Parts: sequence; C-alpha cells; structure tokens
Amino acid sequence: MAFFRFRHTVAFRLTLWYAAVFALTSGVGFLFFYLLIAAVIQERTDQELSEQVNRFATLLAVRGVEGVKQEAILEAQAAGEKKIFFRFLATNGSVFSSSNMSYWQNIPVDRSAIATLVSTSRPVIDTIVIPDRKHKVRVLYNFISPSIILQLGQSQEYYSRFIDAFKRIFIGTMAFLILLAALIGWFMARRALSGVQAVTVTAQTIAEGSLEKRVPVKPRGDEIDQLADTFNHMLDRIESLVSGIKEMSDNIAHDLRSPITRIRGLAEVTLTTGSGTVEEYENLAASTIEECDRLLDMINTMLLISKTEAGVGNLEAVEMNLAGVVRDACDLFKVAAEDKGIELTCHVPEQCVFNGDRSMIQRMVANLLDNAIKFTPAPGHVDVSLSGGDGLSPVIRVKDTGVGISDEDRLHIFKRFYRCDRSRSQSGIGLGLSLTKAVVKAHGGTIDVVSRSGTGSTFTVRL
Ligand code: ADP
Repeated sequence: MAFFRFRHTVAFRLTLWYAAVFALTSGVGFLFFYLLIAAVIQERTDQELSEQVNRFATLLAVRGVEGVKQEAILEAQAAGEKKIFFRFLATNGSVFSSSNMSYWQNIPVDRSAIATLVSTSRPVIDTIVIPDRKHKVRVLYNFISPSIILQLGQSQEYYSRFIDAFKRIFIGTMAFLILLAALIGWFMARRALSGVQAVTVTAQTIAEGSLEKRVPVKPRGDEIDQLADTFNHMLDRIESLVSGIKEMSDNIAHDLRSPITRIRGLAEVTLTTGSGTVEEYENLAASTIEECDRLLDMINTMLLISKTEAGVGNLEAVEMNLAGVVRDACDLFKVAAEDKGIELTCHVPEQCVFNGDRSMIQRMVANLLDNAIKFTPAPGHVDVSLSGGDGLSPVIRVKDTGVGISDEDRLHIFKRFYRCDRSRSQSGIGLGLSLTKAVVKAHGGTIDVVSRSGTGSTFTVRL
C-alpha cells in the first residue's frame, strides 16, 4: 500500500527518469565504445594475417615450397595448433600441404573465396562461426606466389575473451552507477521537493482549522519559494476575507438585533405595565411597523446591492437629464440641511444628458447627500456640483466640511455594514456607500473620496 503511494510521488518519478536517462546515455556510450574496440581489434588481426602472408611469400622466394611447408608446421606448433592454421592451395582450390588440421577439420576451403581471389587478385578475408565452438575464426586467402594460395586462419579466442571481460566490467560498473544515479536522483528530488512538503504540511494544518499558519519561505527565491510566497499571500487574502465576513456577520447580527429588541421591549412593556388602552396598542403597532420598515429597508438594500453588483444587465437604463436629478435631490435635502444649520449649495448646469437607471442614480445621489449632511455638524457647508455633459463624462462631486474620515476607515467605508462610528450614535445601517459603489460600478463609473479627519470629505463620482 505504502509502495503504491510512494510510486506516485514526484520524487520517485524524477528518480526513475534520472536513472533511466543515465542508463540510456551510458548504454549508448558503451555501445559506441564497444564497436570502436571491435573494429580496432579486427583491423589489427587482419593486419597480422596480412603480415604473415607477406612473410610466407618472402620465405617462399628464399627457401622454396618445402621450406615454407616446414615453416608453417613449426609456426603452427609454436603458436598453438588450436590457435592458428595454414593451408597451401593450388589456384583450383586443391590442398597440397597444411599445418596440423585435426582441430580445424570443420573449416573447408571456400571455393567462392578462391574464385574471388583469382578474379580480383585481392586478399579475401572472412569470419567463420564453427558449430559447437565458442570462438569464431578469422580466415584469410591470398597468393604467396602466382600459383600458390595461402589459407590462413586465426582463432578469435583472445579477442572474445577481451570483449567478454569488457562486457562484465561494463555491466558491473553500470549496475553500480545506475544505483548511485538513483540514489543521487532520489536525494536531489527530495531536496528540491522538500519545500512542497512544507506547503502540504501547512495546508493540512490550515485544513484542520488554524488559518494563521504560514509556510516558511527561504531566501533562495527558487520556484518552491515562489510557490510558498504565493501560497502565503493567498492565505493572507483568505484570512482578511474571512475576518471581513466575520465582521460583516457580526454587524448584521448587531443591526438586526437592535430593532427586534426594541419591538420586543415595547411589546413587553405594553403587556406587563401598560394600561391596556387602545391608544397604547395603536402606538405599539405603529412602532412595530416603523421598526419592521427599517428591517425591510435593510434587507431590501442588501438584496439591491447584490442585484446591482451582479451586473449591467440588471439596470433599467433610460436617457435622462442628470442635472435635473441632482437638482431635485438638492431641493429635497435643503430643508433637512437648513434644519440642522448646514448650508447646502448646488452647482449644476441646465442640461446633462446621461443614459442610466434613473431610480438607482437618484438613490446614489441621495446617499451621498444624506451622508454629507449627517456627518457634518452645524454650522457647516455641503456643496454639490455636477460637471460634464456635451459629450464629456459627467462628474458629480459632494463636498462637506464635516467630521471627515480617517485613513484607516477610508479603506473600509465601501464595505457592507461598515460604519466608522463604532458606537453607532448616528442613524444608518452602513449600506449606503456599498450601494452607491455598486450603482457607480454598474454604470461603468468610479467613485473616490478625499478626506481628512476633522476637515471634511469630498466624494467624487465619475460616470
Ligand atoms: P451609513 O451612512 O448608513 O452609516 P454608509 O455606507 O453610507 O453607511 O457610510 C459608511 C460610513 O462611512 C458611515 O457610517 C460614516 O462613518 C462614513 N461616512 C460616509 N460618508 C461620510 C462623510 N461625508 N463624512 C464622514 N464620514 C462619512
């Protein structure tokens, strides 16, 4: 079981590849070397045979046929009759003398070789395999005089022994080297992949529940370190998303709990300590409706944000005069601003044609204005301006002299349920800017804010 798992590891496969490539290249190297040695040995044997023939030709000239026959017998005896033989042939192939041939009976006179020699006058040389004998024989035919042919044979025993020894040494060395290559390959693969192991272990720990764990990153900067680094970045992101979701669900729970607690409290007071008058029950019903409306508003806004974020397809785009929409919003909020002691000024052109979802744009402008007034203490100033139109993209700017937003909060204000004021002393549910951003995005625009704590904020929407 463990072996099957091990067989599928990258380290095992790398080791196998390493050993296989090593074996293949050494095998090819050996083959090349073997062929080279075989060719060199053959050439040397042939050269020796040719030299013998020349010697016998010279001997024939000096000592005559009988002298040569004598020499052949002696030479075969001296070298070993199982190693070398001589046959003297007439040009028709008939044998008229030879060294002791008892060991070489199986080697006949090759008529076709004689014919080739006679017709070309060039030495004929061949390797012959004798059945049931281990070693081959190299046989050469050549003239030692115009009428005498010498058939000269030499056992390849030494040559075979040498090649056998070479093969044995090679196989032994190869086995050792392949084993060594596998060991080195295994070691290298394990070393290279140790970083992956660290990532796996960390992933396992995280899967068991500790999201704050990170993979140790070495300063080498290799692929594994890059993987570890990316993995850690991903974890940072997941961790911040998870804590964001947690914060959001805490906020939702908090914002849902407040109206429900109020409804319950009111109902409890009316039931336990109330005087039971119709008027009291009417008050309870009215307050319940009011709180339910707040809850419904919150839920509807959440749904609207999700729907708007889902894309442009959900918009009911019509051609409208954006200037009119902004001006109407200013008129609507003017009373509330004046009541609070805030001056609201509005700088919009007569006409600014824009294609978009009218009610969404109205909500967006209203949210920005509502926030500006809400977060500006009296005496303050809120200025709304619209520029663009005539082919230029419209830009809506809402500037206030209010409490401002800190750098830290600025990163979060567009998140759902985020409110800078942790005590939640101001009314609101923290969804206004999320919806505003979703609307701007759905219209292909951008929103940004410039703000400093205590000096006011400017929200700019580019559509
Ligand atoms: P809400 O207004 O319902 O609290 P928003 O999503 O509209 O929620 O705004 C999120 C938070 O951003 C607000 O709670 C407030 O703290 C801060 N904020 C928004 N607009 C302004 C502003 N003009 N000046 C100062 N703070 C602001």
